Amino acid sequence: MTTSETHTNPDTPETLAYNRTKRWLELADLVVSFGFLIALLATGWTNTLSALATRLGRDHYALDLFIYVLFLSIISKVLSFGLDFYSFRLEHRFNLSNQHIGSWIKDAIKGWVLGLVFATFLAEVVYSFIRISPQYWWIIGWVIFIALFIFFAQVAPVVLFPLFYKFAPLQNEELKARLVRLGERAGTRIRGVYEWKLSEKSRKANAALTGLGNTRRIIVADTLLQNYSDDEIEAVLAHELGHHVHGHILKNILVEAAVTLAGFWAANEVLRYAIDDRKMFQHLADFANLPLLALVASGLSLVLMPALNAYSRFTERQADLYCWKCVADVTPYITAMEKLGKQNLSESHPSRLVEVLFHSHPPISKRIAAAEAWAKKHRPSLAT
Ligand SMILES: [Zn+2]
Repeated sequence: MTTSETHTNPDTPETLAYNRTKRWLELADLVVSFGFLIALLATGWTNTLSALATRLGRDHYALDLFIYVLFLSIISKVLSFGLDFYSFRLEHRFNLSNQHIGSWIKDAIKGWVLGLVFATFLAEVVYSFIRISPQYWWIIGWVIFIALFIFFAQVAPVVLFPLFYKFAPLQNEELKARLVRLGERAGTRIRGVYEWKLSEKSRKANAALTGLGNTRRIIVADTLLQNYSDDEIEAVLAHELGHHVHGHILKNILVEAAVTLAGFWAANEVLRYAIDDRKMFQHLADFANLPLLALVASGLSLVLMPALNAYSRFTERQADLYCWKCVADVTPYITAMEKLGKQNLSESHPSRLVEVLFHSHPPISKRIAAAEAWAKKHRPSLAT
């Protein structure tokens, strides 16, 4: 196959149905979580729950707050359980999942506990600073949030991901040698490449650059290693190396820092307005205002999602460009993209609106077209 003759096929009815249902599920999930927060505030249930938590915690502030967070976490899990289960069924209906119900429930519980630990820790820190420094709590809260975020980015590949998947250092010597060569050409060294045992749960394929500092590594799904040629896997690795060379993880952290600073600032303003002007809460340290804080944070991330997705697509294009420059021929990149699209039922031709609103990666049709255009210009000898 010559690179100039490759065309991406239109999406199959199956692909369209899968993606359409998934988008509806995401939308429903948004409605449920925003609806829950709004209902808590509008009905005054948040005050009822915080009063109950205070009674159960016997006026021990940190314990009261934990009980309150536990209530919210249980109720929101109950509310979203139906949608979560439907998502699990959806993956099976489209033959994308191998996971048994027992393993899925185990993962759901682990995820819930992790979320609870994280939310409790953050809430305890934020409200203790609200009490210590009502004026500057939002700046201190932001600094701690970012520190926590960096900590989690670093430990994720060694502590969090292994809770859900098994990993092992890549055994394929030929691939390892190729990656070393890619890295040498880039003047950089990746600490490791790990095989991600995704096949136990999913039929999809994926690869990613994860971690920070000494945990920085590329993870490649076994589903990819088993079914793709060495040239195709090299192209995928070169793309991930592109993320590394461009420092995308660090840049993402900086973007995250800017967004959350705006979030903490806005939360402080909105909380003050709710207390001073609307008399919704007695004071800042009244943790019944937590749903309002969460509402501001999630509202802001929702509003910024198209911009953040646009930034993410930009970084993907950078990593792609890096990949094409690295590999001798872009054809394996193109065939790998086609295979990935088919295997994961990704839409190759989403509408522009869907792309702008939801997609963190450029559509496969555009990535392939860009690769072909690049090859025509920079590798004319390979095209016939
Ligand atoms: Zn990427």
